[in-house]
Amino acid sequence: MSNHLMNTYAALPVAFERGEGAWLWDEKGKRYLDAISGLGVCALGHAHPEVTRVISDQAGKLIHTANLVRIPWQEKLADALTEITGMDRVFVANSGTEAIECALKITRIIGHQRGFDKPGVIVMENSFHGRSLAALSATGSRKVQAGFEPLVSGFLRVPFADSEAVAKIADRSNEVVAVLVEPIQGEAGVKVPETGYLETLRVICDEQGWLLIFDEIQSGLCRTGKWYAHQHENVQPDMLTTAKALANGVPIGACVARGAAADAFSPGRHGSTFGGNPLASRTACTVLDIMQSEDLNARVEQMGERMFGAFRSRLQDHPGVQDIRGRGLMIGIELNQDVNHLKTVALDQGLLLNVTSNNVIRLLPPLIIDQAQAEQIVDTVCKLIESLE
Ligand SMILES: *Cc1c(COP(=O)(O)O)cnc(C)c1O
Repeated sequence: MSNHLMNTYAALPVAFERGEGAWLWDEKGKRYLDAISGLGVCALGHAHPEVTRVISDQAGKLIHTANLVRIPWQEKLADALTEITGMDRVFVANSGTEAIECALKITRIIGHQRGFDKPGVIVMENSFHGRSLAALSATGSRKVQAGFEPLVSGFLRVPFADSEAVAKIADRSNEVVAVLVEPIQGEAGVKVPETGYLETLRVICDEQGWLLIFDEIQSGLCRTGKWYAHQHENVQPDMLTTAKALANGVPIGACVARGAAADAFSPGRHGSTFGGNPLASRTACTVLDIMQSEDLNARVEQMGERMFGAFRSRLQDHPGVQDIRGRGLMIGIELNQDVNHLKTVALDQGLLLNVTSNNVIRLLPPLIIDQAQAEQIVDTVCKLIESLE
């Protein structure tokens, strides 16, 4: 093992050599079922033949030009994303964090257009928006922020899933520009707000002239059985951030906007050397095509219902289980104790899973899992939980 990597990850003691669909193989040839998809990224599974074909074809033609010239695949991607979301314009970046940065910069521009000295964004407790200074400042976790002060200013924090708390901010500050929220909080432990919460936020934002921004970096792209999780409700944001599954593992992120937010930038105000290069953009176009043509949303909804049903019937009487929640194939099982050790126990049993907030088993399997794989995940996870003290 090399000592030359900065000490940022407590990596599990395994390295994978190849994958196929929901399966992974380590260096010794042992097979594992992937119930985390590289953190919600490989939604179409590993080594998807069409994605592989498109990547190698594009790599043989043109990987990168920078945005000094037109990039037709980036334009096609923008057309596809605006069609899916019903929005107007897209900025293509390289990660979720950068998509958030773009959205936050737009709130500053709009705030200054309104004559605000200190444009503010309302953010949520326990949220996660990334690790850059602005993104970690927006994030509602002391663990993420501690030691990186001074934080970027301009964030006003309220409890998640509490629309009254958002409405009350109007009395405290007259320089609010936007509300930033995850429709389902991922890192916080798969927290799903009550139906109607997002619609109420929309009403408040319309009354106050605030922009509504949805961070769908984790919850988007068929993960919950809709293109974007907010589409379960009758609500349209002003901006939306998307990343993770967008190119099935090729780094990419995007900020999608409509109305004034879509027209905030002019040349020179924002940019990225790599952002939206032909390789990443074409791969993302292919991923969206496959999601559409394979009717992935319907598949996810059906498989999600089966998995939730199975978990609930097997675990409902287990005293250690506090909650089983989520939507589609974004699944959280909250336990009454720290279950971080289950990651390595599961690994021994050939299952890759994730624990977030210390006591929530988080499952984000590839969206293409079949019935037998879903059953194997449920069975292994239930046995792990049943073995807890
Ligand atoms: C993963 C994630 C991010 C950060 O994305 P990166 O690609 O890691 O920069 C931001 N917001 C949410 C909700 C996420 O899940």
